[in-house]
Amino acid sequence: MPLYDFKCNKCGHSWDEMLLYKNRDKPCKSMCPNCKEKKSVVREIGAPIMSEPHKMGLKRPDQGFREVISKIKQHHPRSSIRDY
Ligand SMILES: [Zn+2]
Repeated sequence: MPLYDFKCNKCGHSWDEMLLYKNRDKPCKSMCPNCKEKKSVVREIGAPIMSEPHKMGLKRPDQGFREVISKIKQHHPRSSIRDY
C-alpha cells in the first residue's frame, strides 16, 4: 500500500499515512495528529514510497526493453549492464 506524506500548514507537523490506491485522488480528510487541525492538512506531492514493489504489480521489463538492452550490450561489450 502506498505511503503518503502529509503536512499540517498550521503547526508544521508532518507524518506518513497509508492510503488505499483507489482513494488517492479523493480530497484529503486527514486530521493533524499534533494540533487536530483538518483544514490546514495537505498531502505532499511526490512519489509514494513503494515498500514492497513485487506486491504493487510491477512487472519485469518487457521484450522491447530487453532488445534495447541487448543492442546496447552489443555496442558496448564491456559494459556492466546486466541481462534481464
Ligand atoms: Zn497541526
